[in-house]
This record gives sequence, structure tokens and C-alpha cells, in this order.
Amino acid sequence: MGPTFLPRLVNGPFDDPALFVPFRHQHRALLFDLGDIATLPSRDVLKISHIFVTHTHMDHFAGFDRVLRLMLGRDKELFLVGPQGFLTNLAGKLAGYCWNLVENYAHRFVLHATELHPDRALTCRYPCRKGFRPDGEIIETPFTGMALNEPNLRVDAVHLDHGTPVLGFALHERFHINILNVALARLGLKPGAWLNHLKEMIYAGTDPKTPVEISGSPDEKPRIFPLGELEAAIVRISAGQHLAYITDSAGSPENMRKIIAIAEGVDQLFIEAAFSDHHQAVARQKHHLTARQAGMIARACRAKQYHLFHFSPRYREHPDLLEVEARAAFTAKGALDRPFP
Ligand SMILES: [Zn+2]
Ligand SMILES: [Zn+2]
Repeated sequence: MGPTFLPRLVNGPFDDPALFVPFRHQHRALLFDLGDIATLPSRDVLKISHIFVTHTHMDHFAGFDRVLRLMLGRDKELFLVGPQGFLTNLAGKLAGYCWNLVENYAHRFVLHATELHPDRALTCRYPCRKGFRPDGEIIETPFTGMALNEPNLRVDAVHLDHGTPVLGFALHERFHINILNVALARLGLKPGAWLNHLKEMIYAGTDPKTPVEISGSPDEKPRIFPLGELEAAIVRISAGQHLAYITDSAGSPENMRKIIAIAEGVDQLFIEAAFSDHHQAVARQKHHLTARQAGMIARACRAKQYHLFHFSPRYREHPDLLEVEARAAFTAKGALDRPFP
């Protein structure tokens, strides 16, 4: 009955940004930003299917080597998304190593990378067996605000300004499928991998008459139910989970409006709070949000919860200052209509 996504920041607020989002009961995870991820266990890195990189400043992309190192030689497809210039940066990383023996690798590892521009998306494949040289042409498609679109989820992306283009992301579960354990027991069914298959069928809008085969122990005969009947008996649908990941953005009115729009009504907002409002001149110069702005955004987009990260090292002695400042802005009274000048 728990949530589908279990997001957690890989590091503390003073270390590199990376939000790890594993899926409950599935060997799969998404990653938002790819700073130093040395503390993320290998088994978790290997769950990652998609990495959404806000921009390629080193503190957001330096973890790429660890992912590449762990996935090398495995039968795996990894999808990466980044802003303008991303394909060039990725090709530069890949060109940093010698790949003369990879054509003999037994397993097929392929990178797929997409560079998002405000109006178009450029996608290219980099197969390991070809020494990660681009395979075929770069494919251009229109960019309509979505970085990933699957039957049960989508990831929206928006271009923000940080002195360089930066992507803000929002992950949306379309709806949530709850399995009623009591109903399951009443039918004499045991939880298993078949539940994931059942969920996939529901998300895909499969014909309710489609038979669903459920195998018990090897000596038991499989039981078969029509999908619609099984769904009515053991499934309850509830609202999907929504979260947003925002970092390295100037506190300009335009950025603030875009962030509030993409993060509207999220359950969890992960947002940078690089500087205190006392240092807003520095924040402006470095194109980062202040803790006060982070709190204002969380309040304006009606986030149920927010989590601050990416603190400047200058607050290492008193990190509470940023939390207190954001909390004051988040809980401030007054009209929400025009929170920004
Ligand atoms: Zn940056
Ligand atoms: Zn940064």
C-alpha cells in the first residue's frame, strides 16, 4: 500500500547533489543529477534506468564515471537526459578512455542520451561495443515539456537560467495502484512478481477480459482470472505521487514562475537553498536560490513537503539558519497570488 517512489538525497546538504528514486518492489530507479555518488551502494547504482542531469557543472555530473564503471560489461541500457550541450559533454567524458577491447564483450551495454533544447530534443545512441562512438545520426524530435513518458509515469522538464541553461524536473505517477492484501488472502493468492505484471496491464489500459495467470508453488496448478474481475477484487486506485527536483537556478521572477508551475501541488519538493537571504547579492551573482526563495517557492506551489539541499560551505557551522529561513517563508501568512515582485 506504500508509495511507488522512495526518493532520497544521496548526500548531505553540503555535498554534491543527486536524488536517488528507487521504485518499491522493482529492480529499478531514477536518478536526478549525478554529482559524487560514491556513497550510493553498487546494487543501487545498478538499478538506475534513467538519469536526469540538470546541467554539467562538475558537482552535478562528476559521478558519471562510477555509473559507467559499474555498468560496463553488463547487459544494460541507460538513458541520460541533459540540457543544451549535453551530448558534447557526454562525448567528451566517453572520449577520456581507451576502448580497444570492448567489441568482444559478451554483454550489450548501450547509452542513450538526449539533449533538451526549449523547442527540440536531440537523441543519440552510444553502444559500448562500438567504443561508445555515436551510433547513427542524431535524431531530432520536438520537445513538448516531457523528458520521459511511460504508461505509469512521466517526467516533465523545464529550462531555467543559472547563467547557463539548467533543467528543472518533476516526476508524476499517473495514478497509484494499491493492492488489497486482505482481498488477496481471501482469494488464496500470494503476492509475487505477477502483481507487477498486473499493474503493468492496468497502466497500459489492457482489455479487462484478458486472462491473468497466477502461479503458486511449482506443484500447484496456475489460477486464471479475467483482468477486470481481478482488478475489481484486489485493486484500489488512488492519486499518484508527484515530486519535483530543482537546483542551481537564479532567483529571478521568470525562474520562480517556471519552478512554481512545474512543481504545482507536488507531494515532495527537493529544492536547493544555496545561500541565506543575508547573502542575496552573492546568490544573485552565482545564479542560485536563497533559502528564503526556496521556502517561498515551496509555499507558492503548495508543496506538501520540501527538502533543502546544496548548501554553500559557508554555512557549515550553522546549517539550521537556512532551514529556519526557508521555514519562515514557507509558513508566512498572506496572499499567495503575487509572491514575487
Ligand atoms: Zn551549477
Ligand atoms: Zn551546483
